[in-house]
Amino acid sequence: MKVKIGIFLCDCGGSLKNIDFPEISRSVQEIEDIAFVDISHNLCLEEGRKAIASRILGKNVNRVVIAACSPASCEHNFIRLLEGLNFNPNLLSIANIREQCSWAHEGNVTGKALDLVGMAINKARLLQPVERKEIPVNKEVLVVGGGFCGMKSALELSQLGIRTTVVEREPILGGRLSELEGFYGFEISPKEMLSSMGEEVKKDANIEMLTSAEITRVEGDAGNFSVRIKRGVKEDSRDFGALIFATGCKAEILPRYFELSPGSKIISQRELVEILQAPAKLERRPEVIGFILDIADENSRLPSLLALNAALAVKNKLGSEVYVFCKNLKVDSEGVEKLYQEARNRGVVFVKFEEKPRISERNGRVKVEAEDILFGEEVSVYCDFLVAEEKGLPSEGTEALASILNTGVDSQGFCQDENVYLYPVGSGRKGVFFVGACRGNLDAARASLDVGSAVMNVYELLALGKAVVEVEKVKVDPQKCRACLTCIRVCPHRAIRLVKVDDEKWTAKIYDLACDGCGICAAICPAKAINFEGYADEQILAEVEAMEWQYGRE
Ligand SMILES: Cc1cc2nc3c(=O)[nH]c(=O)nc-3n(C[C@H](O)[C@H](O)[C@H](O)COP(=O)(O)OP(=O)(O)OC[C@H]3O[C@@H](n4cnc5c(N)ncnc54)[C@H](O)[C@@H]3O)c2cc1C
Ligand code: SF4
Ligand code: SF4
Repeated sequence: MKVKIGIFLCDCGGSLKNIDFPEISRSVQEIEDIAFVDISHNLCLEEGRKAIASRILGKNVNRVVIAACSPASCEHNFIRLLEGLNFNPNLLSIANIREQCSWAHEGNVTGKALDLVGMAINKARLLQPVERKEIPVNKEVLVVGGGFCGMKSALELSQLGIRTTVVEREPILGGRLSELEGFYGFEISPKEMLSSMGEEVKKDANIEMLTSAEITRVEGDAGNFSVRIKRGVKEDSRDFGALIFATGCKAEILPRYFELSPGSKIISQRELVEILQAPAKLERRPEVIGFILDIADENSRLPSLLALNAALAVKNKLGSEVYVFCKNLKVDSEGVEKLYQEARNRGVVFVKFEEKPRISERNGRVKVEAEDILFGEEVSVYCDFLVAEEKGLPSEGTEALASILNTGVDSQGFCQDENVYLYPVGSGRKGVFFVGACRGNLDAARASLDVGSAVMNVYELLALGKAVVEVEKVKVDPQKCRACLTCIRVCPHRAIRLVKVDDEKWTAKIYDLACDGCGICAAICPAKAINFEGYADEQILAEVEAMEWQYGRE
């Protein structure tokens, strides 16, 4: 069929003043295959979308070029519009003349805008339709870990009508929070909060609890995972559409950071909690309790929150003198500044150091010597107990879990994030999410945000019971594939597997729902066996040729 291209130029409400739109329109109209060139002020608004629809239908074009803002801003709206017109969205080519042109340079940029439009036109000529297909997805979700985040995920999914199975390796639910005495950030104690969550979970018909259980194998892709769950000697396979991991972390005092080994006087948060729960067990009331931070991990916020919370608990329950030795107290989490002010008002003394304090034991007490950089003076304090900073570490079995999932771990061994800033709960594998302390040493407020984000992602993926995929947008040619496994190794989304063609030949195969369309495999395949529709070599070369045409013209 002869190519017929409709072109829409948008001046973004008249704001792209350094581009001469009539000049672009005149130049482009000379090109072969162009059915029309329209200049619009706001293609993204209702009136602009209506104009696109009526021109495409009226002129019966089979390719569309839109020269406007970045595809990141509006492409999804244009795709939806074209789908509504029964026009294959893969036949749309976008030129970003706003962020990549008008906004990027000063002075008249009509020449560059013309280059970008010419490139989009040349690419549009070679575009092929890509079939979009609905595939059924399993609406059930597996949550691994029955601590605060695991239970919260299951309850929130249940409210959205999604059934979950929670697998917890311990015989009871609750996780690390159940070990805490005082708890900062919530109005009730952690024990009360967890037991009321546990009751809700038990009553909820949408939630199935499997305690003393672990997963041993995960197969399949987003929407259709098959997971083996081991409980005692029994092992079953179950199917799920998405997997949420809330396996938490552990916290330990690492002796290498302190001159003295942890013992009866250098204690952990948990040991302090035990003292606060039963102070009568002590021979005498401790007169001075110290906290030391920023030795094992200067970047984590949780130790500051814990020390402030525990310092106030010590003041309330024991009335001891409290010293907090720190480099930089982190008070940027919600409400922590207030906690700090309260601690100061209650007489907690903060000693800010630059050089690591010297810690020694004298007459059954711990001596901490530090240079207070605010006063410029040496401070030495004898503590009955020194509560040492604990380092957040990945929980037992995180590496084994990552290998079952075929995902990575970060440099500290925590479950690896897809993109810490843009998509913190995502994993390299579509449909697999990491929430809460398994991503790092998070407080419960931040962990709750993770849960909300993962639940919304799961809902988006599964709620309709079907997902739309672009069929073979990225495709392996089995004739060219040498089964070298390179693409399988590099695919960040684990979307490629080796399959048998016949008795002798194997080929790589891409699974559409798991593929994120990053294009890495197509770029790296040594046999050039992978075609990424829209980014094939000839399509990219055609774009380059368009620039040559421009320069040749000048
Ligand atoms: C001493 C201390 C004090 C704290 N105080 C506060 C505070 O005052 N305020 C605050 O906001 N936060 C506080 N926190 C942080 C808080 O504990 C965490 O934010 C919270 O526990 C995170 O919940 P989670 O569900 O991600 O992990 P967890 O609570 O650790 O739960 C993880 C669950 O997963 C299970 N699990 C692990 N691996 C597997 C597996 N392979 N298969 C099945 N199950 C598995 C574990 O058994 C556990 O039940 C404190 C932490 C500590 C250590
Ligand atoms: S990189 Fe290319 S040749 Fe190698 S397995 Fe993948 S598709 Fe086949
Ligand atoms: S484009 Fe290739 S490398 Fe990227 S997610 Fe899809 S299959 Fe994996």
